[in-house]
Amino acid sequence: MSPYPRSEERRRMVERQIEGRGIRNPRVLAAMREIPRHIFIPPPYDQSAYDDNPLPIGNGQTISQPYIVALMTELLHPESSDNILEIGAGSGYQAAILSQLVQKLTTIERIPAVAILARNNLKALGIQNVEVIEGDGTQGYLKNAPYNGILITAAAPEIPRTLTDQLADGGRIVAPVGGCDVQELVTLEKKGDRMIPEYHGGVRFVPLIGKHGWEN
Ligand code: SAM
Repeated sequence: MSPYPRSEERRRMVERQIEGRGIRNPRVLAAMREIPRHIFIPPPYDQSAYDDNPLPIGNGQTISQPYIVALMTELLHPESSDNILEIGAGSGYQAAILSQLVQKLTTIERIPAVAILARNNLKALGIQNVEVIEGDGTQGYLKNAPYNGILITAAAPEIPRTLTDQLADGGRIVAPVGGCDVQELVTLEKKGDRMIPEYHGGVRFVPLIGKHGWEN
């Protein structure tokens, strides 16, 4: 049982919104039950933290819908020895979920105030295997590469070559790819010098802004 408040709301959220929609990875389900989403959301929206939708976190940014967080996490195929890169730290919630499932996570956020928010939220939960970096994630983060997986939590016009170069062989990228309004959730698996795509349906994310993303 989660030691954090509102565990019954999380149990119901996982049962109805996440297991109910076909997420099966038991480690992902356990992390979603454990991590308190409400601490990542400013008032008054924290009251709705276990509802089935994205919510504002300030600076024009959002925390993703719980189901989308669970789906993207499951599609990454996280292993406990993995070194993972996330682009778009936002509130730090997705990073907190991944922190339970992998060895090391680097998460990049382009808006300085949001990077501080993510860092503070992760610190409040005592999470120590996540490094929050302020900067343009479209350029990756060479210092901690190669990565077993890369998760992009903002809408990319395409997957930058810089990121596929920082991915280990056999690694996976999970990202919303498409226009600024709607995108397709895509996974790419690296096999030698090939990237094998799979498509997982429509999603809506805020834009990935940067050198290899959208213009500001
Ligand atoms: N993963 C987040 C969470 O768990 O709350 C949600 C991410 S939010 C939908 C998208 C985030 O991506 C925003 O905070 C935005 O500032 C950030 N972002 C957009 N372009 C970026 C870039 N080039 N590098 C890093 N972060 C970026």
